[in-house]
Amino acid sequence: MLDEIRAILSDPGVLGDDAWNVGDDVDLRSFGLGSMQMVQILVEIEERFGIEIPDEKLVPETFSTIDSIVAAVASVRVSVTRVDVDPIGKEVEGVTAGSGGLTVMTDRQTHASGVLLTPREDERVYTGLRAKLGETFSDEAEEHYTAPPVIARSISERAGYARSFPQLLGAVHGAPDGGSPVPTDLVLTSAACHHLYPLLASRATGGCLSVEAMCYRGEATAETGRLRSFRMYEVLRYGPETVVEEWRGQALTTAEQLLRILGLDVEPCAANDPFFGRIGKYLASAQQSEQLKWELVATVEDGIEQAVASVNYHMEHFGDAFGLRLPDGAVVHSACVAFGLDRILLALRHQHGQRADGWPASIRAVLGL
Ligand SMILES: [Zn+2]
Repeated sequence: MLDEIRAILSDPGVLGDDAWNVGDDVDLRSFGLGSMQMVQILVEIEERFGIEIPDEKLVPETFSTIDSIVAAVASVRVSVTRVDVDPIGKEVEGVTAGSGGLTVMTDRQTHASGVLLTPREDERVYTGLRAKLGETFSDEAEEHYTAPPVIARSISERAGYARSFPQLLGAVHGAPDGGSPVPTDLVLTSAACHHLYPLLASRATGGCLSVEAMCYRGEATAETGRLRSFRMYEVLRYGPETVVEEWRGQALTTAEQLLRILGLDVEPCAANDPFFGRIGKYLASAQQSEQLKWELVATVEDGIEQAVASVNYHMEHFGDAFGLRLPDGAVVHSACVAFGLDRILLALRHQHGQRADGWPASIRAVLGL
């Protein structure tokens, strides 16, 4: 790095050949460098190293000696390395390249906050989680589906998502005839279980299905674990009220046990969804007082907890919306347990260490790693 910095300083407009002889701690301003040269040094350094010196370091002292320049570059580089092991969903701050304005990427980050790539190491954990979930609910789920990241707009509307959570819904736009993009017949999958309700019309006597989908929600992504694109694994139970109501209690216990086997200290708590608007405030408080939604909360970063799983009792909501009736004419009840695989990985990393190959043997065995 020292040679590269001296090469930058050796520009004839800056220090020229003196750059190769000047002491590391000599004040460069004694060579008569003014602010224009300082800016030139700044731009070249950012370009050469692919970094952005943070605003608070853009003071003359930072560029006063070769030592101080080295320290500034090193501190930014350290922060890039640190981001590499930062938890999922945390935004990269102040690390942008001088040319093209593109953020310096680590192995998980993309150019959209809350949207991540999956390295092979993480995919192995997801595979282990899927297998464990499949095994845990194997007695119940008659079929498992992998759902696409998009769903028919009509189904999403029937599910009531656009009405209750317009702030979270994502839509697909296109321009089939050229010109300005317009909404298509697809929106982004908001909840994996939405894909299942249309299937139930022909099998509404009651049963259980599981599904995994890459979901989208327009979350604010400033907090660790708040992703806009994430994996959701769900088990859906539908049937008569008494059966479903009993099941959701068992499902909460099963989910809690499963997460505890993974070494996660989860706490069940009554929760509510972020319904939109004034009516939404009412719906949210109703959901909480009727205890229709339970979350299992785990620590994903020091001081930050997120729901890693939830159990939702929909009562007649989806039965009504999709015209599902039992043979006796009663409306089908439904409940689902949803696992946020990305957040579970975060909680596992917080609990057992950043790299899965260093996790305790018992945890690795559960996940087949
Ligand atoms: Zn669901």
